[in-house]
Amino acid sequence: MGMEDYPRNLSEFRDRFATEEACIEYLTALRWPNGFKCPKCGGSSGWKMSRGLFLCQECRYQISVTSGTIFHQTRKPLRVWFEAMWHVTSQKYGTNALGLQRILGLGSYHTAWQWLHRLRRAMVRPERERLMGPVEVDETYIGGERPGKRGRGADNKMLVAVAVEDDSVLTGKAKGIGRIRLSRIPNASADALRSFLAENVASGSQVRTDGWLGYEPIIVDGYEHVVVESRKLVITHLTIALLKRWLLGTYQGAVQAQQLDYYLDEFTFRFNRRKSASRGKLFYRLIQQSVAANPVSAREIVGGCPRKPMENAATSTSSSGKTEI
Ligand SMILES: [Zn+2]
Repeated sequence: MGMEDYPRNLSEFRDRFATEEACIEYLTALRWPNGFKCPKCGGSSGWKMSRGLFLCQECRYQISVTSGTIFHQTRKPLRVWFEAMWHVTSQKYGTNALGLQRILGLGSYHTAWQWLHRLRRAMVRPERERLMGPVEVDETYIGGERPGKRGRGADNKMLVAVAVEDDSVLTGKAKGIGRIRLSRIPNASADALRSFLAENVASGSQVRTDGWLGYEPIIVDGYEHVVVESRKLVITHLTIALLKRWLLGTYQGAVQAQQLDYYLDEFTFRFNRRKSASRGKLFYRLIQQSVAANPVSAREIVGGCPRKPMENAATSTSSSGKTEI
């Protein structure tokens, strides 16, 4: 398989992944781009057996191409997983569990829900690069009925830190949105904001924020801190509005606190690839990251599956959830 080899459209997808064997081969090539490598002894020669199983010639360890990936111990054919990934990546706004259950004809809503959560785990590469300045940073509340108050927390609300690269210099456009990073933070304290920045924005970057005191110490961490009026954080507010619309539209706002991080990852995965000309490329990235991601058990999906779809609190629709500075 060549570099970045993926189907361009549904018809190509169907031709290419018509059999289980074709899916196994594709997965194998992505998992071991430089040839088989035994996870136990590091040996590089393996016998290909049936159904995606390999036998290490050195230590006789048997390994499945799916073991240790998000497809770990799945009982469903890879073909169905591939269909799920194609569906998830070919829809601009993604899909919810009910939609996935219908399209794949899965017997249970619970299975569809778990699959989406497994796939979301694969949507973030741990080694991803940090954003580079100029970057706007702000926070917003997700969930709950009324806007929350900064620094104090609010009932049923989740605070999310948002960092957005300002690409306007690069692109020559008035509002140039580059890559984004989103993360749930416990509160808007200096500690929480500094660790969000350390994880997501490269040191030396110019960071624009409003006048919130929590941002004051970031200069110590090597950022060039520029304080602007809140209303001037235009690209951040636009990103937040899109995030909230997406949560409402695709998930009807039915996001549980413990799972919000994964929804944020999904939004980021899509958003940062929004300019990608081919949906097939998203599919390729998702599979590539799926074989690199650690497996996840049902128990690990914190919060568990909601009993029935769309039963949770609505997402706040205000574009900025904060009321005081
Ligand atoms: Zn081995």
